[in-house]
Amino acid sequence: MNGYRQLNSSCVIAAGDRVDLLAARCAACGYFIFPALTCCPRCAHTHFTAATLPRHGTLYSYTTVHIGPAGAKVPYLAGYVDLDSEMRVFGHLAIDEGDVAIGMPLELNVRSSAAGRFEYAFTARCVTAPQGEGA
Ligand SMILES: [Zn+2]
Repeated sequence: MNGYRQLNSSCVIAAGDRVDLLAARCAACGYFIFPALTCCPRCAHTHFTAATLPRHGTLYSYTTVHIGPAGAKVPYLAGYVDLDSEMRVFGHLAIDEGDVAIGMPLELNVRSSAAGRFEYAFTARCVTAPQGEGA
């Protein structure tokens, strides 16, 4: 469990220690697409601007993968995450199965891996309630 999804360098923007996932934003309708495509699935426009994905979201749905691609360590969790900018992204969940719940707050983690490649996964995000004054 706790696997990260592998990416090549065309899907990220790396600056120093920070690595962000690279999305495309449709110039006509503003729809975010990750990974980038050559045609907008919402309006069929073909012009895009580069955008980085937000780091926070909530879990929309998930499944446990028991049979994965060659070399994958199974089982692992994968799911769709609603990010803060009206987009839903597929990714691996680096969360223990007993701790996962629909609607839970998640954080996107992107990091470099071996041989110039990158990987990403969503992890649980701690959300603390604001503390009252004078407590
Ligand atoms: Zn569009």
